[in-house]
Amino acid sequence: MQKQEMPPASLWMRTSVRRRATWHMMLLAFMMILGLTLVSFLFMRGVLMKRVLSQAEAVTMGNAGFVEDGVRAAKYQAALLSAAPQIRQTLAGTLDSDGLTTYFQSLREERPDMLGLAVFDASRRRVAAAGAALTLPAGPHLRSAFHPQLGHDGWDEYDVVTPIRAGETIEGFLVVRTDAAPLLASLMPALPSLGETAKVYLGMEQAQRLILMHPAADTRDRYMLSMGDAGEWYALRLPISLGVRGQQGYLQGRDHMGNHVLAAYSPLPSLGWGLSVQIDRVDALSSVTTLGYALLGVGVVMLMLAAILAAILARELTNPLRELSRKIMNLKPGAWTTAVTVKTGDEVELLDRRLAEMSSRLQALYEHLEQEVGNRTKELKKQYAYDRAILEGIQHGVITVDLHGHVTGANPAALTLLGWDAEEVIGKRIEDTAAIHAAGKTDPITPHPVRKCLLHSIRCTDGTLLPTVFLVSPLLQGRKLFGAVLVFQDVRDERRMDELKSEFITLASHQLRTPLSIVRWHMDLLEEEDHLSARQKDSMGEMRTAASRMSDLLNALLQVAQLEGGGLTPKPMRVDLVQFLRGVSSEAHLIAQRSGIHFAFHPPKQKINTVTDTVLLGITLQNLLTNAVKYSEKGGNVDLTLKRTRRSLEISVTDHGMGIPAKEQRHLFQKFFRAANAKKIQTDGSGLGLYIAKMIVDSLGGSIQVKSEEHKGSTFTISLPHHAQEEKA
Ligand code: ADP
Repeated sequence: MQKQEMPPASLWMRTSVRRRATWHMMLLAFMMILGLTLVSFLFMRGVLMKRVLSQAEAVTMGNAGFVEDGVRAAKYQAALLSAAPQIRQTLAGTLDSDGLTTYFQSLREERPDMLGLAVFDASRRRVAAAGAALTLPAGPHLRSAFHPQLGHDGWDEYDVVTPIRAGETIEGFLVVRTDAAPLLASLMPALPSLGETAKVYLGMEQAQRLILMHPAADTRDRYMLSMGDAGEWYALRLPISLGVRGQQGYLQGRDHMGNHVLAAYSPLPSLGWGLSVQIDRVDALSSVTTLGYALLGVGVVMLMLAAILAAILARELTNPLRELSRKIMNLKPGAWTTAVTVKTGDEVELLDRRLAEMSSRLQALYEHLEQEVGNRTKELKKQYAYDRAILEGIQHGVITVDLHGHVTGANPAALTLLGWDAEEVIGKRIEDTAAIHAAGKTDPITPHPVRKCLLHSIRCTDGTLLPTVFLVSPLLQGRKLFGAVLVFQDVRDERRMDELKSEFITLASHQLRTPLSIVRWHMDLLEEEDHLSARQKDSMGEMRTAASRMSDLLNALLQVAQLEGGGLTPKPMRVDLVQFLRGVSSEAHLIAQRSGIHFAFHPPKQKINTVTDTVLLGITLQNLLTNAVKYSEKGGNVDLTLKRTRRSLEISVTDHGMGIPAKEQRHLFQKFFRAANAKKIQTDGSGLGLYIAKMIVDSLGGSIQVKSEEHKGSTFTISLPHHAQEEKA
């Protein structure tokens, strides 16, 4: 079975387009279904609530109308009754109580709810009564008045007091008591349409207390409650208390037991009471709650359908993309071409076509590249063969080394010159193959001086030293170092020429010195003559200057020749450096004084002993100090400083003169070099002083540095190594 190839980490996907599309579509469907369900639920709920409330209001208004009508009818009937002859006869005393009772019995046949009857004369004395025992309520009773009678369970009965008139005069009063049940029963019929929890309440205020009545059809359900402070209930917006206070409307709130209700309320003006119809909110909205559950169920089903649909749609949408991605992933050498397979007619098809186009171009490019690489390789091989031939043909020895300094190759010239065999040399350390000896010394320089490439010799197998010129170059690939190349040349002839030059200079200098001494001696003699004219004396002066310049030049040339020829070997001895510099300073002082320069030596506080060649150091310091004075303006300062640092002993000569132009500073220590600014002002100079100084300091194992700025001055610093003996001193 072929093993499935794992994709590289860079091609690993956290998710896929299909999964994301499915999720997004599902999220959209979820939001839409949820939104739709919620909105329709809330809308339905609102509509239903509104409907129930307005229905309750209508019932309330109807009920209030019933009560009002009942009251009016009762008053009307009482007024009619007051005009009946039996009542008038009773008042006149012509009909006694029995007669009135008979009359009352006959009335009850028609109106069984009538419970009692009483007639009072104008002085409010009871004349006669039938049925229930009745009293005349206080008040003028100029017209019919309605007096509800509250019993234990609420409103049981009511009295209607009506004046008995003869024309305009009131002759007496008739009080009729009636059972309130038929009137209350008329309140109920409309309620079933509001549901089972619908209730009617009557309310009134008595001595600032709210009295609540529940006038149910069934007497067992009736009750009357004294609810306490009417003002508080009004503030709490108890529906019935709003009706009692003469307001009409509906609200969603709580009933006197704290239940959530939908309520409508209205005043009963003729009684000064209020009426309220209340429905339990949960019950009223139960249908809409059921609808909510139904919507939820439908929503869940729709969501499931949406999920399936989303998956199908996402598949449909992303298939071409997946196809495209598969094709791109499969592109590799040897399989560059792809065919157009996506037929969606949209951007993806466009992409597919572009991919096919690009892949065929890629194939052409790749083939071209392969050919190019083949050609280049051939060329490189050819070039390599040429280079190899050149390398093998040249007389220069060429050795290549790796990063660890092991020889990786050597050309025949190198092998012949050094006397090695090719097999022997490969892999050997460069120190063992081409040990480098400086200036003819027997000990090889360590570490191998790959950077210094002049006048070094290589020890051959026969023990002779081969003077060579080196060219050591690092081998780099980009910025990565992978070895070095050492190219060297036999410079025996050049070396010989140099030696001959030095010998000539030495000889010439020596030979010239003697005649020059004779010339100077004779000049001295001539100067002592008295008869010389002023002009002749001037000429003598000029000649003397020229002669001393020539003598200086000869001295310098001799020093150079000696140094270059290795003839000046330092003879170190123990010295008190401060003491030595004081001696140098006193000479410098005189030279400076002559040129009008202030000179100062700044010795360190402690004593510094070292081991060095004071003669050579003296020559160097003299050169530096002379230059400092020479290149300073009159009145300037020259300072000599000695200090000891952690790594070396530093002797500095500082001046504030013309300085050295920055771009010329790197040539400063070369033979015969003179800076342009110096040449302009000081024509007198050989350009050898600093060259000599550098050679001497090198031979003493130290170094010389310069810091200079044009027009500001220069500081030359000699750094000498601490010497072992110095520590003991
Ligand atoms: P020279 O005989 O010309 O002084 P040196 O070798 O002593 O030869 O100095 C080389 C050159 O270095 C000088 O010609 C001068 O240009 C420059 N030079 C050396 N010392 C100083 C210095 N203290 N201030 C300015 N230039 C200097």
